[in-house]
Amino acid sequence: MKIISDELVPANSGWGAPMQKGQVLRLTAKTIIDFACINLHNNDERFDQARTKVYNMKLWITTGDVLYSKLNNPMMTITEDQFAGMGYHDLQYGTCSGPRYARAKEEGRLNQYHHGDDIPVPPRGCWENLIDGFSQWNVPPEYIPSPLNVFQHVDIDTTSGEIKHTPNRPKDPIYVDFRAEMDLAVAASACPDLAAPEFGQPIQAMIYEP
Ligand SMILES: [Zn+2]
Repeated sequence: MKIISDELVPANSGWGAPMQKGQVLRLTAKTIIDFACINLHNNDERFDQARTKVYNMKLWITTGDVLYSKLNNPMMTITEDQFAGMGYHDLQYGTCSGPRYARAKEEGRLNQYHHGDDIPVPPRGCWENLIDGFSQWNVPPEYIPSPLNVFQHVDIDTTSGEIKHTPNRPKDPIYVDFRAEMDLAVAASACPDLAAPEFGQPIQAMIYEP
């Protein structure tokens, strides 16, 4: 394994980097990481939640599954998933954000996010962090892809369609590996993760050549 880069990303902040086809991104954490990617040579080609669900014919993806772009191209393959057997990565939610938290507070719905109503609302979230992560590629805020929410285990009632946050997270930091299937710009957010037992934590982002 040849390490290209290895960075610690503070809680509730963003990270981004270029990757070459064949390189592997290892994301390590015990709280939620919102993750997205775009084509390095065509920034209009972005990760797409819906295409990814349909090509894999499932709501949750794990080892062997592929992340797809809106233009129907494979972007990344999950080559190792240490969360398998403990929980699922979410492909339903968009990003959390400062405005989303503020509106939830206004609507008295903060308890849908976490285990209490008396917790300070973060001024920013994964949307702002992914804007920062993609900043060197000038992705406009409205074009930040809805992410793969790594380690965000949610309960889905398949009869009513109701989605619920859960506090199910890794007990200790574990990782998921993603192999690039094209040259990419990748970005990750260390989510403030109000639903996690210990709230948002730093995450680690490492790129290596296998
Ligand atoms: Zn978030």
